[in-house]
Amino acid sequence: MTNLSILLSDVLGGHRLTEPEATLLLNTRDRDVFRIASAADEMRERRTGNVVTYVRNQNLHVTNICKNLCGFCSFGRRGSDEGAFCNDKAAIQEKARLALTRGVTEICLLSGVHPDFSIDTYCDLLSWVLEIGPQIHLHAFSPDEVSHAASVSNLSSVEVLTRLNAAGLGSLQGTAAEILVDTVRKVICPRKLKTAEWVRIIKEAHYLGIPSTATIMYGSYETAKDQAEHLGIIRRIQDETNGFTELVPLSYLHINTPLYKAGISRAGATGREDMLMTAVSRLFLDNFHNIQVPWGKVGLKMAQVMLLAGGNDLAGTMFSDDVSATAGATDADYLDPVTMQRMASDLGRTLNERKTLYQLV
Ligand code: SF4
Repeated sequence: MTNLSILLSDVLGGHRLTEPEATLLLNTRDRDVFRIASAADEMRERRTGNVVTYVRNQNLHVTNICKNLCGFCSFGRRGSDEGAFCNDKAAIQEKARLALTRGVTEICLLSGVHPDFSIDTYCDLLSWVLEIGPQIHLHAFSPDEVSHAASVSNLSSVEVLTRLNAAGLGSLQGTAAEILVDTVRKVICPRKLKTAEWVRIIKEAHYLGIPSTATIMYGSYETAKDQAEHLGIIRRIQDETNGFTELVPLSYLHINTPLYKAGISRAGATGREDMLMTAVSRLFLDNFHNIQVPWGKVGLKMAQVMLLAGGNDLAGTMFSDDVSATAGATDADYLDPVTMQRMASDLGRTLNERKTLYQLV
C-alpha cells in the first residue's frame, strides 16, 4: 500500500488532513490525481448524497468604480476611466424587476468598492431592491466593503453589519478573501483588507447570525502551500462559528488582468489544479457540507468533471457576470437548469433547486 493509499483511507476513516498533507495532495501531478478525486467523490456522496443543487440567482452590478484596482481584476475602474459606471436607483430597480420576471430567489449585489459609498449608500441599495421584491434573498457585500463602509462612516464593522442586517441583508459574500496569506495579498490585491481583518469581519457577521460563503481564488500567484494555509483558516473559522454555507472555489481568469499582462501571475489554474482544488477542499474541509463548482470560470465540461471530484453544487443561473466576462471568460453569463439537469443526470445524480441557504425547493 502506498503512502497515498494510507492517507486517503485514513481521511475517509475520519483523519483530519493537516495543511502539509493538503499541500502534498495539491501538488500531485500524476495519475494519483484521480485517486484523490475518487476519495473526494466518495466523501461527497457520504456528506451530501447524490443530489446536485443550484440556486436561481442573478448578479446585479451596481458599479465598477473601485478604490482597490486589484491586479487580478479587469472589472474595477477609476471614476474617470472609460467604461466606468454607477447605476442609480431607477436602473437598479429596473434590473431587480427583470430578475424577478426570471423567477430568481436570490440577487447578488456584485460591485466595485466605490470610494464614496457609505453605510447609508449600502443600506439604500438593499432597500431599493427589496422595494421591488421583498421576498428576494439579498446576497451582498464583501468584508472589504464592510471595512470600507466602517471607515467612511466612522463606525465599527459590527455597527455596519448590524445596520446591514436590519436593512435586509440575507447573507454576506465571502469574497475579497482571494488567498488569505498577506505576502500573496500584497502582490495581488495590496489595497484590500488584510487577512486578520477579513477573518474578524466574517466572524463578526457569523456571530450576528449573518451567514456567508467562503471563497478561494486560486491559480494566480500563490503556491499550493498558500492554498492549504487559506483552507486551514476557513476550516478554523467554521469550527468556531459554523457560519459558512459553502466553499466557492474561484478559478483565476487571467487573460485581461494587469497581473498577467505584467508577467506576475500565471495563466490561471490548469485542469489538474481545478480538479485538485475541488477534491482537496472536499477532503480537507470536513466541517463543510457544500463545495461549489464554478462553471462560469472553468466551463461546463470541466465543471461536470469537478462534480466527480467532490463538488455537489452548481452555484446559480447567474444571468450576468461582468466580472468574469471582463477578465476574458466566455459563456459565463447564464446556465439554464435544463443544461444543469443534463450534467447531473449524465452522472446518475438528481438536480434539485435550492435557496441561498440550501433549503431544497
Ligand atoms: S476584485 Fe473587487 S475590489 Fe478588486 S478591483 Fe475588482 S472589483 Fe475592485
